[in-house]
Amino acid sequence: MLWTKTYIPPMKETPEGAEIPTPALLLRAGVIYQVMAGAYTYLPLGLRSLRKAAQIVREEMDAAGAIEMAMPCMSPTGLWEQTGRTEAFGDVLVTFSLPRQNRKVQVTLGPTHEEIITDMISRQISSYRQMPITLYQITTKFRNEERPRFGVLRTSEFLMKDAYSFDATVESLGNSYNAMYKAYCRIFERCCLNYLPVEAESGPIGGDASHEFMIPADNGEDTLLHCIECGYAANQERAEIGTRDVTVPDVPAEELKKVDTPEARTIEQVSEFLECRPRDLIKTLIYLADEQPIAVLIRGDHDANEGKVRRAVGAENLELAGPEVIEKVTGAPVGFAGPVGMAEKIPIWADRDVEPMTNAVTGANRRDAHYTGVNRKRDFEVDHFADLRNAVDGDPCPRCSSTVKLRYAIEAGHVFKLGTKYSEALGARFLDEKEQLHPIIMGCYGIGVNRILASLIETCHDANGIIWPVPLAPYEVLLVPLKVTDEETMKVADQLHDELAAAGIEVLTDDRDARAGVKFKDADLIGVPLRVVVGPRGLKDGKLEVKWRWDEAPEMIDLQGAAETLAGRIREERKDSARFRDR
Ligand SMILES: [Zn+2]
Repeated sequence: MLWTKTYIPPMKETPEGAEIPTPALLLRAGVIYQVMAGAYTYLPLGLRSLRKAAQIVREEMDAAGAIEMAMPCMSPTGLWEQTGRTEAFGDVLVTFSLPRQNRKVQVTLGPTHEEIITDMISRQISSYRQMPITLYQITTKFRNEERPRFGVLRTSEFLMKDAYSFDATVESLGNSYNAMYKAYCRIFERCCLNYLPVEAESGPIGGDASHEFMIPADNGEDTLLHCIECGYAANQERAEIGTRDVTVPDVPAEELKKVDTPEARTIEQVSEFLECRPRDLIKTLIYLADEQPIAVLIRGDHDANEGKVRRAVGAENLELAGPEVIEKVTGAPVGFAGPVGMAEKIPIWADRDVEPMTNAVTGANRRDAHYTGVNRKRDFEVDHFADLRNAVDGDPCPRCSSTVKLRYAIEAGHVFKLGTKYSEALGARFLDEKEQLHPIIMGCYGIGVNRILASLIETCHDANGIIWPVPLAPYEVLLVPLKVTDEETMKVADQLHDELAAAGIEVLTDDRDARAGVKFKDADLIGVPLRVVVGPRGLKDGKLEVKWRWDEAPEMIDLQGAAETLAGRIREERKDSARFRDR
């Protein structure tokens, strides 16, 4: 392919030495073009890479025994009402009505396809003999983002691979799940991503029923906790905390004192007003656990984890209590709750880190008042201690004696044991060997194909532009003839181009009549892995200048047999791009 014959928009000047954020880099490098917030055109360079990522996903899905199909983006909104997801998704769901003869049809553009596929399966699968089966598709999904951001990471329209498994037993679901898990590992490896499968919040099946595939990146919007020692990794929602030091410090107990704290309700306001650290405060949260009020105590600098609270209490539903309930059980308006002298006796749960707290500050269950010098046992009792907060950087690892590290990451994939939520809502049942009727057991498995590219570029670029690994590069070799007006130069470049193309190498020739400096800058910006310079000086000695995008210095190779040499290097790199994964 010739640069002037494909469509690569003119490159914008890149500020000298400035680190460019990924979205800007994608725009500058002519990979994407923004149509509106949250909607992008994939230009030829971007589309080539996107297709390669999709093809890797497809090959690994096929190898794992999943079967490809394609469902429409449009589906009847009624199906989404049957599972309660019109409500669950809210404004995220893109819905509209279409005029059809004399009536209006309400349709939804699918953000995923559980409803559509389960409805089909409910009509086509009726026996355990027809399972297990895993079906997948790679199609455009829609999700209205009220605040689209992070460039191509959060868009309202995106390419996603979604797979759905249908099994007759929980054990069989385990096999289907493991097959997808392993396929995901191979996909991210082949896409040269330094990925981390992390435990995520589980559905009704429990255990290790859900994993997210995270790509650690400083600008990622997800947080995870990772133990470098033993490999434990979980997202912040899920991460457990190991044994904590709850030794009570040996300091004299101060007197319990009620102090005025006018209008100071938040941890920040109170600690500023009383000149203490947030970690000296005990936050008192009033929840309704299956409609029953409970108090949850958390150290001021920590955040409560509702999933942990719900599981510890053994409640089906958990929600923060409203102002009326808070006023009724504490005797004070919102912002002044505390465990000392509540109006009503309700169960008090506390996070482990509250156990060693001495001379703490808490709300006084009075408007505009707090207590200082609060000490457990003397001033209040805790009914239950448990792990009730989000894990933070430096917490003890739940699996070994080391500590976990907080890392930012991009979520690129998710595997999930769904259970029977959708099959029950949509009546997808089967008969077992004994002619007994059961709901089909499902799993769902998603990968954001655009996110593969976005996270790869997020982690593979420098101040000059993108650094594509060969397996996802839009082109593998960039030929740069320095003087396109020189007949000999162009003869060599054209011949090399054709020989490489004939050898199955994807090659682009920069045939623009531009200065060498401009061509080199643009070459770095678009990031084609192997740059080959055809210049009059080298040709005189029968040499070509070759440089990998990630190497500092170029080297000279013989013009004689150059196509073979270059093709060999590309084939090596296609097979093994370990340098990218081991970053
Ligand atoms: Zn560990």
